[in-house]
Amino acid sequence: MTVSHWQQAEQEEREVDFLVVGAGLAGGAAAYFAKHLHKRDVVVTDARDIALGASGRNAGFMISGLDTFYHRAIEQYGHQIAREVWGMSARSFSHWRAFIEGSDFEVPLDNSGSLLLAESPEEARELELAARALSADKIEIKYYSRDPLGRGYCAAIEQPLDAGVQPYLLAKTVMAQSGAEMIANNELYRFEQTGERVRVYTRKAIFEAQYVMLCTNAYSPLIDPYFQGKVAPTRAQCLVTEPIDHVPVPYCGYSDYGYMYYRSTFDGRFLLGGGRQFFPEEEQDTTEDRLNTNVQGFLDSYLAKYFPDVTAPVAQRWSGIMGFSLDGLPLVGTLPGRPRVGFAVGFTGHGLALAAATAERAVDKLLNGVGAGAVDVSRFD
Ligand SMILES: Cc1cc2nc3c(=O)[nH]c(=O)nc-3n(C[C@H](O)[C@H](O)[C@H](O)COP(=O)(O)OP(=O)(O)OC[C@H]3O[C@@H](n4cnc5c(N)ncnc54)[C@H](O)[C@@H]3O)c2cc1C
Repeated sequence: MTVSHWQQAEQEEREVDFLVVGAGLAGGAAAYFAKHLHKRDVVVTDARDIALGASGRNAGFMISGLDTFYHRAIEQYGHQIAREVWGMSARSFSHWRAFIEGSDFEVPLDNSGSLLLAESPEEARELELAARALSADKIEIKYYSRDPLGRGYCAAIEQPLDAGVQPYLLAKTVMAQSGAEMIANNELYRFEQTGERVRVYTRKAIFEAQYVMLCTNAYSPLIDPYFQGKVAPTRAQCLVTEPIDHVPVPYCGYSDYGYMYYRSTFDGRFLLGGGRQFFPEEEQDTTEDRLNTNVQGFLDSYLAKYFPDVTAPVAQRWSGIMGFSLDGLPLVGTLPGRPRVGFAVGFTGHGLALAAATAERAVDKLLNGVGAGAVDVSRFD
């Protein structure tokens, strides 16, 4: 986003201690940790408002780990990192659950677990290998060599510690409990670090901040060239039906290597998302929030194939923008030459799994220089 010379005429100047940019799950969690663990005075700014980005548009799956099977994660990142990242999911879930328990309003949570399903014999073989690797590491799962739903899938892994949540309300309560001042409708245009301060130009104000934390996920490459080639905006599409009289999948279900996902909502509807794997050129490298009729058409056909018993009309369709990182792991660090500007971005479609624990490490890194382990960008050095 650029800004014209004329638009900068009426901004007030303001000093802040710790400025968080982006009011999604990551920004809310960062604000909470900065304020409550590190006793900073926190202001959050967002171009729109709380959870209007991916955090309020996702499927609400609290599913452990990454967008790759556990044994593949071990191959790609090494055993220690795979274990560490799965541990970060458990930590994130425990943070989210604490926020839900401490909330002033109800945040619906379904602790039924998740069911990872195979759509083909090849995927079933992968699932079996994943199940073995998870069990070897004593991660609680149950493996099914047949479809436990009887819907034409080939095998499944049940993860009983996973959950489904109302993500928009979760993000709202995290922000409320952070106690930070929230400034909505206030886009960041640019920033520069001079000495020990960061000068941040936004729509309503020019901030002089001690520290800035970027929690702008998919939009990060629009904010600073450092993120170009490191975070790729990727669009995802969902639909939800009118209420139905049964529960087609009593879990958060997902299949086709995580590309397809489905669950019941808390008001008795059926949610289905995914389908971008067949239209990569249309859904990659875009921050445009719009429906893609090709992907939505595929979702309709998927519904008819695997869930013919769900005959209620579609009530709503939407899209959201995810931030895919270069290597699939979140990115935590400070900007080169600007050590007062930190970031926690690149959740690769797994912000509910990882954003809380990642934001916790990102704040510690920015304020105290503590390494962020598996998610630290120093891995690219
Ligand atoms: C359809 C869909 C389904 C998904 N399903 C799941 C799921 O089931 N489970 C799961 O774990 N993850 C899922 N995800 C991914 C998950 O939603 C994200 O990983 C998570 O929300 C990222 O949180 P965030 O706070 O980093 O980003 P966001 O929620 O996108 O927040 C970024 C914020 O930055 C703000 N911003 C951007 N630019 C500027 C600027 N210049 N100035 C000020 N503010 C700015 C935006 O307005 C936005 O509010 C899904 C995503 C989508 C789109």
